Amino acid sequence: MTTQKRVLVTGGAGYIGSHTVVELIENGYECVIVDNLCNSSYDSVARLEILTKHHIPFYKVDLCDHDGLEKVFQEHNIDSVIHFAGLKAVGESTQIPLTYYHNNILGTLVLLELMQKYHVEKFVFSSSATVYGDATRFPDMIPIPEECPLGPTNPYGQTKLGIENILRDLYNSQKDIWKVAILRYFNPIGAHPSGLIGEDPLGIPNNLLPYMAQVAVGRREKLYVFGNDYDSRDGTPIRDYIHVVDLAKGHIASLKYLDAIDQKTGICREWNLGSGTGSTVLEVYRAFCDASGIEIPYEITGRRAGDVLNLTAKPDRATKELKWKTELDVSIACKDLWKWATENPFGYQLNGISATFGTDEEEFDGRFVTIGSGSRFQATIANLGATLVDLKVDGQSVVLGYEKESQYLTPDTCYIGATIGRYANRIAHGKFALNGKDYQLTINNGVNANHGSIGSFHAKRFLGPILKNPTKDTFTAEYALIDNSEDSEFPGSLQVIVNYTLNVATKTLDIEYTAQVEVEATPINMTNHTYFNLNKLYGSDSIAGTEIKVISNKSIDVDENVIPTGKIVDREIATFDDSKPTVLGKEGPDYDYNFFVDATATPNQIDTRGNELKLVTTAYHPESNIKLEVSSTEPSYQVYTGDWLCAGFHPRQGFAVEPGRYVNAINQDKYKGSVILKPGETFGAKIQYKFS
Ligand code: NAD
Repeated sequence: MTTQKRVLVTGGAGYIGSHTVVELIENGYECVIVDNLCNSSYDSVARLEILTKHHIPFYKVDLCDHDGLEKVFQEHNIDSVIHFAGLKAVGESTQIPLTYYHNNILGTLVLLELMQKYHVEKFVFSSSATVYGDATRFPDMIPIPEECPLGPTNPYGQTKLGIENILRDLYNSQKDIWKVAILRYFNPIGAHPSGLIGEDPLGIPNNLLPYMAQVAVGRREKLYVFGNDYDSRDGTPIRDYIHVVDLAKGHIASLKYLDAIDQKTGICREWNLGSGTGSTVLEVYRAFCDASGIEIPYEITGRRAGDVLNLTAKPDRATKELKWKTELDVSIACKDLWKWATENPFGYQLNGISATFGTDEEEFDGRFVTIGSGSRFQATIANLGATLVDLKVDGQSVVLGYEKESQYLTPDTCYIGATIGRYANRIAHGKFALNGKDYQLTINNGVNANHGSIGSFHAKRFLGPILKNPTKDTFTAEYALIDNSEDSEFPGSLQVIVNYTLNVATKTLDIEYTAQVEVEATPINMTNHTYFNLNKLYGSDSIAGTEIKVISNKSIDVDENVIPTGKIVDREIATFDDSKPTVLGKEGPDYDYNFFVDATATPNQIDTRGNELKLVTTAYHPESNIKLEVSSTEPSYQVYTGDWLCAGFHPRQGFAVEPGRYVNAINQDKYKGSVILKPGETFGAKIQYKFS
């Protein structure tokens, strides 16, 4: 068995750190991120989880906080450290030098002391070409080799040189123990080609490309080019731009290099990470205009203090020793940056989205995220079960939910607001046959298995979410789950995506489910188990007075064990054709029935997303004057009046409408085709809750 090496990534929520985490995971490493989020957002980590399909432990800790950082070393068996965390703005460092020295130097000292204490001796450090200062002061030092004399010209660069010196001293004190890679970056640009992560500078960007991107998306008026009287091809300064994905790969190369060094031998060595090719400011400007299709307005102004003609790397040492070189050029970086900028014009921080912690600790993957925050229609969703925790219509909550994540984990769960999977509703006796085998699920509901039994999704922490605000009125939250057969009693390894889309103008919440399976086929049926109470505002802890109608009263007949008999029966419930609705009372009528959308159909679609969204149930409360319409693409829906509601709620405090496939379809030849997901296929379903 191979055990994966665990890398502590400081500053992993930031620009270069987040891209490096992707490459680390792709190369089989595990990551733990420590970041105080002073220049980043946790949302980059949430997106990394979806991008890499891995849970990434995250600690919001300042490196200067010795005890906070020590907890990370105690809780994880760290193999090596990549140290990105630091303040990085050259201009700002001249204004607040003490803050820079304190943060960058002290943070590194605390980190190294703990590494020494816990015998973690592999270290990759984010240094910078800034340590060379003005290399043009020497003849023959352009392109810049590692041997170029060092001479930073600002406090930021001094902190990088100071840390390099600390590392060299540390190595010299125990030459057979420390393995240190000092990576001197040139100018990182671009973004991940997925468009999910990129540079998200707070305030006015210091660097050329993020600035241009903000001009292009209309956040800034024009670009300022500082001087066109340099001795270059077009008069503007020359820099060595490197795609951030190439740069991230340089870290993997250096880590592998350190890993390959003999156990009893140490090293402390510097490598330039640059392309070796210089581009002028106007050449990069042109590449970005071409990639974006926008002629960005610009103005030439005077030279900026401290700028020099040419800072191009000589990357030969990295090519020879680390077997690394850049593969992506400036035009690809511009294209990837443009994708990131257009898909995320305001980066990670979005108005109308807020988050709180569902746990007593600041546990980021236990977050409750509110989309549409501050507006007349808003939804709060938890990572646990990708659960709809709250839904507010004009300030009034219309669903049942808890305040804390732990309350969702009671043994007598009622699946409040949860995503239900792998298999919603009952499977008779918990048995099914598939892949030439017989399966037995744990019985958890009378004589049957219900809602996925012991592997139920309501108790699983989903990855993510990716939060977006694609139009003025819409907000989306996308969660993912990797559900392996070992954790669920079901066959096959399932990848699930749950996507919530809230529209504050139309007061609709759409939920879309997709899933794919690997290895072997699995039964699947997914839905959402929200309990609605449309009259909570008036202190009602009962659904009494709610008026409902359904598309069809044709329902699947069941025996005393709630197992389908094969017959179709008409239930006493008002349909859209009836003039009067069924009024739910304090005691009855009680429903827990699976209804047909069309009793004459034989559903066999595994992906129903292409179907029209069909209205299946309406519910209205005359006191609150709130109307709910439930639509879906699915062939059936369960109506449940909450008569067994438990775990802190009273019977009939809420009702559920759960669109999905037919109850026990996996054991009925006629309906099986709609619930068996095979490798290579996609399961899909859509639900919509609309309020007026
Ligand atoms: P970034 O600001 O996006 O990332 C740095 C991260 O470190 C941020 O997420 C920030 O919140 C975190 N951080 C800062 N101080 C911390 C502390 N005391 N404790 C915990 N977290 C802390 O910057 P980046 O561009 O990703 O740069 C990463 C590293 O690379 C930095 O050390 C930077 O100096 C170096 N570098 C960057 C560039 C560049 O142009 N981006 C060039 C050369 C070197």
